[in-house]
Amino acid sequence: MKALKLLATALTLGAIALSGQAIAQDKGLIGVLMPNHVSLRWISDGDQVKAQLEEKGYTVDLQYAEDDIAAQLSQLENILTKEPKGLIIASIDGTTMSAALQQAADAGVKVIAYDRLIRDSANVDYYTTFDNFGVGVLQANSLLQGLGYPEKQGPFNIELFGGSPDDNNAFFFYDGALSVLQPLIDSGVLVVKSGQAGMDTVGTLRWDPAVAQARMDNLLSANYSDGSRVDGVLSPYDGLSRGILSSLRGVGYGTAEQPWPIVTGQDAEAPSVKGIIAGEQYSTVFKDTRELAKATVDLLVTAIEGGTPEGLDTTTYNNGVKVVPSLLLIPYAVDKSNYQELVIDSGYLKAEEVQ
Ligand code: BGC
Repeated sequence: MKALKLLATALTLGAIALSGQAIAQDKGLIGVLMPNHVSLRWISDGDQVKAQLEEKGYTVDLQYAEDDIAAQLSQLENILTKEPKGLIIASIDGTTMSAALQQAADAGVKVIAYDRLIRDSANVDYYTTFDNFGVGVLQANSLLQGLGYPEKQGPFNIELFGGSPDDNNAFFFYDGALSVLQPLIDSGVLVVKSGQAGMDTVGTLRWDPAVAQARMDNLLSANYSDGSRVDGVLSPYDGLSRGILSSLRGVGYGTAEQPWPIVTGQDAEAPSVKGIIAGEQYSTVFKDTRELAKATVDLLVTAIEGGTPEGLDTTTYNNGVKVVPSLLLIPYAVDKSNYQELVIDSGYLKAEEVQ
């Protein structure tokens, strides 16, 4: 009797669990578009967003476009035929998406621009990212710290790199960095020996490490073959930093006689944190993409389920058509002194990944 009762209870519980699961799985489709598998962060962004949406009962169509603008657009168009409830888009060039986003808006699909603002469209409901201007400020301050300024007064030879000109973030990173560096360039503490500055000159299309490496090769041969030394390089992303460091290695940097210049970065990618520990790259900027994924999923679900998202910035990100309400998370500068605490102890990377 007792055994039968227990069995009955177990069956009922099982049925509740099953029906709960059935209901939970029934909330609809969310399309998630990520730019590429090359930058390690996008892989973890995609995984995190997918897992958290699934936990909340949504079905997820996660796509990577390998930095091919047309491929990402056709992924978007394809997902729209499946009548999604929402879209989370980390765009390659969001300006190409206007017609598809109009179609999404007409169908009542909620759209979140994920980390990269989608420009030139009224049909972006929200933008979730980090304080991108702040990222640039952190990179510049860490460059100065690595150079030993203000105890050492220079002059220091530096070179500047920007991100991809079709990524709105790249301008924020660059402007943030230059807000710190420009006064010191003007006063002669910092010398950009090549004279190359401005996003139209120092931008790196598609954030391609090979493009950065080739530009660094040129900068070195054109400006530093006279025996002068490059003391620092403003690099906005770890992938570019590694390309820049390869180029520097090629002309003999990284030895006792010719130590590495101070090279910045962004994303706390495992190979770069490894490089920081080894004393090659000086710093990176850690953006906890787990937090971004969580905040984005919460925001999208709130919007889909009819709630009012709170705590949004409604002044900073004008996409050319409107100010997109934005959720801004905090980035952190990481170097040898604090990588353990911020990147490893927080569980973002495993100790063995950076050994
Ligand atoms: C992101 C950065 C990333 C870069 C290259 C930017 O939009 O904000 O975190 O380093 O793209 O993938």
